Amino acid sequence: MQTRAAVVRELNQLTIETVELDAPQANEVLVRVRAAGVCHSDLHNMRGELRLTPPFVMGHEGAGIVEQVGANVTHVKPGDRVLVNWLPADGTCPTCLSGHPNLCERFAKTTFQGWLPDGTSRLKTQDGVQLKHLLSAATMSEYCVIDQASAIPFPADVPFDVAAIIGCAVATGVGAVINTARVQAGSSAAVIGCGGVGLSAILGCQLAGCYPIIAVDVLDSKLEFARRMGATETVNTKQVDAVKQLRARTRVGPDYVFDAVGSAATISMALQAVGPAGTVVVAGLHAAKLDVPIPAGALIFQDKRLLGSFAGSMRPQIDLPRLVELYRGARLPLDALISKRYALAEVAQAFADMEAGAVARGVIVFD
Ligand SMILES: [Zn+2]
Ligand SMILES: [Zn+2]
Repeated sequence: MQTRAAVVRELNQLTIETVELDAPQANEVLVRVRAAGVCHSDLHNMRGELRLTPPFVMGHEGAGIVEQVGANVTHVKPGDRVLVNWLPADGTCPTCLSGHPNLCERFAKTTFQGWLPDGTSRLKTQDGVQLKHLLSAATMSEYCVIDQASAIPFPADVPFDVAAIIGCAVATGVGAVINTARVQAGSSAAVIGCGGVGLSAILGCQLAGCYPIIAVDVLDSKLEFARRMGATETVNTKQVDAVKQLRARTRVGPDYVFDAVGSAATISMALQAVGPAGTVVVAGLHAAKLDVPIPAGALIFQDKRLLGSFAGSMRPQIDLPRLVELYRGARLPLDALISKRYALAEVAQAFADMEAGAVARGVIVFD
């Protein structure tokens, strides 16, 4: 079949074109996409900052309606609503079996390189060039074929745009707080970087009963979003010394600092700011390919802890349905997280708005 999709044929070149999509094979699901979240990871991939190389179809946050299922697929059927999990773990490797399917051993050779879990693709251009599926998802397309482990059913009272962002930004931000850090109620917290993941971490801090929740960013527009998401205080690092401010507001430094940026500068800031015996959680990907100097003395002499959090340490089959239920129970106000909607043709503008800090989370919606 044919589908309109956001295609990266060469690094930094994004086009909308009609491409060919093959039918789902065994263990796969064809989804008519209704919403696709706009995420920094898409940009990192478009710029060649992660492991994927072009050509590929963009998008890894998505939700839609099952159109067709391949052999062996029993947990969803045509007509079901599904959100896309971009971590289709095998469930059988030692890492999966030890409770860490977000780190499944097959991702390195498949998902992170843009293949479906069987190592192949269902996508090609009209002139016959094979296209990869960004993170085994490729949701910035009217239709996508995904592995059955990527298809997480959800109830009809959850809007498609909300379901789409649960799969990545929300899972990553909330998961960093409740899965990776296992925050204790009543703790103080700071969140550095107020994009989709950082704002979701703020929601996670609220869910976990943190106070205060201090949002840190360089843009007042993003800090305003943070306040709406439940940050009790904000710090603009362009205007004040964030480390001093965080210490002043919590006496010795926050119990937890969540770094949703993950650059050398923010990791260093987080480690300096966090209180004695406090925990820094790095959930952002900006320095994914860099070596970052760590002030080891602070770790040792002050019992500080530095944790990495990949995709919120999520166990998709458990955590994504749980996040859906927390939304349905009004514990996660995710409607407010989506501040702008775009047509597929406006995808370049959607990324530009994200980079400018003009949106909390942008979502591409399909007719
Ligand atoms: Zn994402
Ligand atoms: Zn595995």
